[in-house]
Amino acid sequence: MRRPLVAGNWKMHGTRASVAELIQGVRRLGFVDGVDVAVLPSCLHIAQVVEGLRGIPVSVGAQNCASQSDQGALSGEVASTQLVDAGCVWSLVGHSERRQILGEDDALVVRKFAAAQVGGLIPILCVGETLEQRRSGETLDVIVRQIGSLVDALGVEVFSRAVVAYEPVWAIGSGLTATPDQAQEVHAAIRAQIAVKSSAVADGLRILYGGSVKSSNAVELFGMPDIDGGLVGGASLNADEFGAICRAA
Ligand code: 13P
Repeated sequence: MRRPLVAGNWKMHGTRASVAELIQGVRRLGFVDGVDVAVLPSCLHIAQVVEGLRGIPVSVGAQNCASQSDQGALSGEVASTQLVDAGCVWSLVGHSERRQILGEDDALVVRKFAAAQVGGLIPILCVGETLEQRRSGETLDVIVRQIGSLVDALGVEVFSRAVVAYEPVWAIGSGLTATPDQAQEVHAAIRAQIAVKSSAVADGLRILYGGSVKSSNAVELFGMPDIDGGLVGGASLNADEFGAICRAA
């Protein structure tokens, strides 16, 4: 049985003051029985959040990490070992905003995924199709390519220490959510692709859904057999709403 995970991606939001308020809200959630809960603040606020959540069972992660695990001359980037040192457990890798706006391609995503694991982080690999790709019937091809680049380069076993998040690009921040059936179809395809190489890795792999998750749609989405929790953007900036989503998992 896979233990659900709900992760709040705070994206490029927050000031010290608003983050302090959000920390208090998350602390009030208390322990959500049977669910792993994580928050992913901006890099700038990681230390504040790690400190603020000390003693409660909510882990902290980054939204990105460098393509090398060790410290070095790479201005503006943060190494996975530095993130671990700061108290992080997770890092997103290949979020669609980074793929689309910052031009991260599959090859760079592979390097970041590897660097995250070498440095001691658990990567949360984000995959997903654009609206155009869905409309032209390419959804599963896109997902298979994104997952396949990792499997080909690093082997399937790396997925025993990773999480996958299916985030259809058209559902992110748009208020449009994939239907539970649409999401389940892709989640099942991802698991099947991994199972071709290792059924044990596939069975244990947590696959999260992301894209306009709210308390009003979370129960239905998380009720699908291959959806093991959520990667929550906008709704995670409201602690009560985030708490309701966590309890739905
Ligand atoms: P929204 O929940 O705001 O649609 O964002 C989803 C997302 O990109 C999480 O990584």
